[in-house]
Amino acid sequence: MREKYLLHCPGCGRPFPDRYTLDCPSGCNALLRTIYREPRLVLRDLPGVFRYSSWLPIEGHLRIDAGPVSYASTGLARELGLSNLTITFSGYWPERGGRMETCSFKELEAQPTVLRLREKGAGVLQISSAGNTGRAFCQVSALTGAPVVVVVPSSAADRLWTTAPSPNVCLITVDGDYSDSIAFGRDVCSIPGVVPEGGAKNVARRDGMGTVVLDGTLFAGRLPDAYFQAVGSGTGGIAAWEAADRLIADGRFGTRLPALHLSQNLPFVPMVRAWEAGRREIVPEEDMPDAEASIERVFAGVLTNRHPPWGVRGGVYDALAASGGRMYAVSNDEARSAARLFEATEEIDLDPAAAVAVASLLRAAEEGFVEPGEHILLNVTGGGYQRAAEDLDRYPVEPYLRVGAGEAVAGDVRDGITSWLAGQGVAIRA
Ligand SMILES: *Cc1c(COP(=O)(O)O)cnc(C)c1O
Ligand SMILES: [Zn+2]
Repeated sequence: MREKYLLHCPGCGRPFPDRYTLDCPSGCNALLRTIYREPRLVLRDLPGVFRYSSWLPIEGHLRIDAGPVSYASTGLARELGLSNLTITFSGYWPERGGRMETCSFKELEAQPTVLRLREKGAGVLQISSAGNTGRAFCQVSALTGAPVVVVVPSSAADRLWTTAPSPNVCLITVDGDYSDSIAFGRDVCSIPGVVPEGGAKNVARRDGMGTVVLDGTLFAGRLPDAYFQAVGSGTGGIAAWEAADRLIADGRFGTRLPALHLSQNLPFVPMVRAWEAGRREIVPEEDMPDAEASIERVFAGVLTNRHPPWGVRGGVYDALAASGGRMYAVSNDEARSAARLFEATEEIDLDPAAAVAVASLLRAAEEGFVEPGEHILLNVTGGGYQRAAEDLDRYPVEPYLRVGAGEAVAGDVRDGITSWLAGQGVAIRA
């Protein structure tokens, strides 16, 4: 193997080179994986997440210093009676070296995704998210000049902001709900040169998120016994499993997969329900009844994905099963009180989703699902919003186009987008 990496399909076993490929060319229902030539993790003297670039599906790097930071917890660990708790923090916390200015681990996926697409010459990325993912891609666009097309419901547009101007973002707002904006976004990808980001199918996204496990393991000098994270799509859980697999193959960090302890926020907990029923399928009537009303009521909105990669080969179900994992349904009250405890003991504010993960760790410690001496990695997926608001400028991303629900990508709308694309000339600064 001369290439730095190949893609591998766990369905048919075929290896093939990467052309920003999202699906198996033979049509398998399986998540492609990257296979790196270098079985030992070699660290690079590069900023942020690019320290781990030997296990990212990219050749170069971006000049962005925003990677995960790991440290040994003392305050929370003492409170819970745990003696080996590593916190890996993704967010804004300059005292600890945390420099994700949009405050979530979605920056870990946005950076390698933008670079992978540029290196493969595949075109302009399209993203449908008004949450942390949308903000992270707008930020990477602001810092690199990479053009991105972001489609969101108009009601959620104010959640998109960056800490530097973002002239290369084409923000399209849809007067409708999330499904309308996802449908419109899919339609935008019919324009030549526009490609979908790909979600869980995107190996750059997963390997970027997997750097949390690389960082936590290097910090502790060994693989954790247990990994805690709150999940909406579960992509981070899959990524943790894949990264741990690579570290086992490396040979220096242990031989056992960490048990995945994944949590969701009540009342919207489809993966918890499917897991408890032992099902590889999510059955909407059973696992997410009254989805809309339930989604309205959760504290951590980023955890409300209706189509997680659950049963697909190499997906969340397989990750939980392979690692002997467990799932938690966390109430809003539990999450809020976990957030207060974390702020008091660790002295940084949390994204609501990270508070859900902390609440699941509290419960695990109380109920004995983890032993006091176990090596635990807590993935704090987001935080530092208060610090960021004090320290950093905030630029709202302004809409370029506004469309109605159900509107087609045709006529004036299509012309508007193609003229924006032409205006980009697709010159990207490194
Ligand atoms: C997206 C997100 C999650 C959930 O991540 P997945 O692994 O994709 O389910 C958790 N916390 C924060 C802060 C997020 O932005
Ligand atoms: Zn295949």
